[in-house]
Amino acid sequence: MIFDIVTIFPDLLESPLNEGIIRRARETDQVTIKIYNIRDFAPDKHSVTDDRPFGGGEGMVMKADPLAAAVEASKNKNGTGHVILLSPQGRKYTQSVAEELQTKEHLILVCGRYEGVDERFITECVDDEISIGDYILTGGELAAMILVDSITRLLPGVLGCSDSADKDTFSRRLLKHPQYTRPRIFNGVEIPEVLLSGDHLKIAQYRFLESVRRTMKRRPDLLAAEFGFFSKAEVQLLKKNKLYERIKKLHIEQ
Ligand code: SAM
Repeated sequence: MIFDIVTIFPDLLESPLNEGIIRRARETDQVTIKIYNIRDFAPDKHSVTDDRPFGGGEGMVMKADPLAAAVEASKNKNGTGHVILLSPQGRKYTQSVAEELQTKEHLILVCGRYEGVDERFITECVDDEISIGDYILTGGELAAMILVDSITRLLPGVLGCSDSADKDTFSRRLLKHPQYTRPRIFNGVEIPEVLLSGDHLKIAQYRFLESVRRTMKRRPDLLAAEFGFFSKAEVQLLKKNKLYERIKKLHIEQ
């Protein structure tokens, strides 16, 4: 998969792209990541990438022409790409959007700055606008990194353990169960005994029920939406633990 990131601050992306799983995915060619510095595409000799807004008002607006030229350069090098503008006004980013974008071969992530970007760049050159949440960042670079990180870890073979992404929070509408590692006792608190039983079925059932209970407490909206997607064995287990009717009620109320 190819990610091209269009930014005026390439250095900001240096470290996150060169550590951990992303670095390994780059080294093994599972992803190719290239940064396009918008200043290199500014037509004038001072590399100007922003200007005052027509009509007056606060701040600066990113110019359409250098942004369009950077996107064009990325498309010319790799064939067509899906152009995403990171924007607080875009559709909200979730795990299911990450799964949808993971199927694309080439993403071009455009990072805004200042007051935002010239609207004509958006209407003429952008396929998709994505927001990482209802708050305002100083620029799109961190948002772009969140997309690169969350999409890369979904690509086949990127995570060390092939199935660990399937069992994450949000792979279905359940939060992940609590996890424990050594020591067995911390601050006088012991780990749940079932985890030492060696009985894999019992452990799986315990984890499933903890996951359901945690989701019920913290994100009942998710659990309500998961109703109808439980397997036969899960339904039996939920009924036995008096959880099934409670989830059904949540579903009806939602
Ligand atoms: N004036 C703009 C507005 O009110 O919608 C906000 C501009 S913000 C200071 C500068 C840039 O940061 C945006 O163009 C966008 O690229 C990025 N950005 C800010 N918040 C974001 C968010 N929640 N999700 C994605 N990108 C964001």
